[in-house]
Amino acid sequence: MKFASVVIDQDAKAIDREFEYKIPDDLDITLGERVLVPFGNRTLQGFVVDIEDSSTFDETKLKSILSAVDGFAVIKKEMLELMKYMATKLHLKLASILRLFLPSEMRTGKVKELLVRFVELNDNFEMPNKNAKKQLEIIAYLKENGKAKFSDISNEFGYQALSTLSKKNIVRVYFEEQKRNIDYDKIADNKRVLTPLQQRAVDTISENKTYLLHGVTGSGKTEVYMNLIERELKKGKTALMLVPEISLTPQVLANFKARFGEAVALIHSGLSAGERFDEWRRIFFGEARVVVGARSAIFTPIENLGIIIIDEEHEQSYISESNPRYDTHEIALFRRQYNDCILVLGSATPSIESYSRALDGEYQLVEMPVRVNGMEMPKIVIVDMINELRHGNSEIFSIPLLAELGNVVEKKKQAMIFINRRGFSSFQRCRECGYVAKCKDCDVSLVYHRYENKLKCHYCGKRYKALDICPSCGSHNIKQGAIGTERVVEELKRFFPDVPIFRMDNDTTSTKNAHRSILSQFREAKPGILVGTQMIAKGHDFEDCILVGIVDADQSLYQSDYRSIERTFQLVTQVSGRAGRSKDQGKVILQTYSPRHYVYRFAQNYDFKGFFKKEANLRRVTNFPPYTKVLRILFSHEDENIVANEIKLCYNKVQKVKEKYPDDFIYLDVMKSPLNRIKTKYRYQILMRFKLEKADEIENEIYACVDEKCKSSVFYEINPNNLS
Ligand code: ADP
Ligand code: ZN
Ligand code: ZN
Repeated sequence: MKFASVVIDQDAKAIDREFEYKIPDDLDITLGERVLVPFGNRTLQGFVVDIEDSSTFDETKLKSILSAVDGFAVIKKEMLELMKYMATKLHLKLASILRLFLPSEMRTGKVKELLVRFVELNDNFEMPNKNAKKQLEIIAYLKENGKAKFSDISNEFGYQALSTLSKKNIVRVYFEEQKRNIDYDKIADNKRVLTPLQQRAVDTISENKTYLLHGVTGSGKTEVYMNLIERELKKGKTALMLVPEISLTPQVLANFKARFGEAVALIHSGLSAGERFDEWRRIFFGEARVVVGARSAIFTPIENLGIIIIDEEHEQSYISESNPRYDTHEIALFRRQYNDCILVLGSATPSIESYSRALDGEYQLVEMPVRVNGMEMPKIVIVDMINELRHGNSEIFSIPLLAELGNVVEKKKQAMIFINRRGFSSFQRCRECGYVAKCKDCDVSLVYHRYENKLKCHYCGKRYKALDICPSCGSHNIKQGAIGTERVVEELKRFFPDVPIFRMDNDTTSTKNAHRSILSQFREAKPGILVGTQMIAKGHDFEDCILVGIVDADQSLYQSDYRSIERTFQLVTQVSGRAGRSKDQGKVILQTYSPRHYVYRFAQNYDFKGFFKKEANLRRVTNFPPYTKVLRILFSHEDENIVANEIKLCYNKVQKVKEKYPDDFIYLDVMKSPLNRIKTKYRYQILMRFKLEKADEIENEIYACVDEKCKSSVFYEINPNNLS
């Protein structure tokens, strides 16, 4: 007799542990299989996460597994290990982790393999008589072409004739699984001879460890990735490449398909449920040997990994902010170690965290400091919008931007106008002098809460009066809110009525293939202008785009987030990287109300190292990550009394931990979350910041402060992107 530990596939804290069941002798159950088990008076689905020869319980009291669901292990061994790791390290529910590993259409059984009816001739048969013209035509067709789709033959020659042939056993009708066709642009592979810098990068990245590839925009990182992947495939290994959802452009997909053909599986949000199901199965059964996908692809069951690549590693979308919350980097590091393979983190603007790990020797730094074709980086011109205002221009566009746009139109070239939507409408700013209110204690910008008409610090919870007069210059001209893409397009049309203008944002790309269609129309439009949000910031490669306009660069600068300056630097660098990628020198017009902010000076000079030094130093002296840890515990419940009481109890215990480590805690407080109620649930949070030396110890004590039985949902986040 064998015994199985089963995790029930239910998102409920109370039953989120392993339950033991007997495996009946006539059932062949393997580790990682889905099974049906009796649970209370119900039959539920679960996953076998362990199999033992003996039980720690009274055998006679154990129930037996009823049946297997799939007949094979849907969760592979590596993923079971990963589940354990994520449960201990991130304090996530087992069932919610397992759900990450299977596409939901697979779990719910709502999507199946696509079966298509085919016909072919049988080996021996008697010819029908001469009058049966249609039947003879079908036979002739099948003789010539072999098998054919039932529907095609039926449409062409008539259902009647076909079904007669089948009844007479002349043709055989059968089903075959057909993979759903994924749409992508078919192009020819344009493999290039590597430049010496690219070659050096490929040669250096050869050991099974983690590399940080710092290559400026246009340095040809993609070609390096592809060469690395090719090398692993030749060795019989597989590859996993992650890109941020927004840079999963049609171009990227087309390039990978052109180079690696059928070996590529694509995982992204634009797939239909059926397509996702098929791609997942192609990966699971080893047909796909290169996976290209967004964040969730890190959980795909690809085996025998030789390399994992995280492109644009600094992107915040690699941190999942909905439940379960995880950081893709951590999962990648786990899989790298498990598979003993290469991990490459690539970016033109590495995160402060990754770069400091590289300087510490934890990752190996590989640099590509110049563009492939030797083109200079585009010239970034900083335009002081306050100055524009003083000269009577209160429009969205500055005079220099309009002039440059005119120039582009005249030359029949292209321009991109970037609208920064991050931190959308969240801060108040003086239009006259650029003043933005900051928290006295935390040195982060305050967030404007419209409904209460208050400014709040999202780090310490302190509240301030909303501005109606600027404390710095006395002006009443206080601005809040951001400019939308629609407005910008309208304004542009006023100035350039004959130029095709395209808009790319969440609204215009919600339908399937919209993304692709906008980009391909823009590609043909010369002159043409593309207006967009973060979506246009990266990945795109338009030869004739010689101008980039950044309408409101500061939007991401004054967020309540300690990373807001870093984000601004990354954004400006990435967006600027879209200009002048081919023969013509590019130009960037950056409109700002804070022209003297150091972030713009470093970005203007493409001085990542200088920026890193300044920013890292600031983080060190102000005690922010990566030199400390921010931990948020978020409680939510529909009943405000329950959540308030439960968090209070937890907070009291956390305070005791703080008393035990007085030198390590920099900050601790409890508060309502800025978004106090979401989907009818009230949200409260405990925020803390502590030093790194004893962080693991402290974290464990903190996790123990949360009552297992509390009614609220509880989530933990380390160094969250967003504290709303
Ligand atoms: P990055 O991702 O570093 O910004 P890309 O990978 O998009 O840069 O490459 C920029 C451009 O250079 C692309 O158009 C690409 O096709 C081209 N390219 C890459 N490698 C080479 C090479 N070795 N020779 C010529 N062109 C190249
Ligand atoms: Zn002012
Ligand atoms: Zn504060």
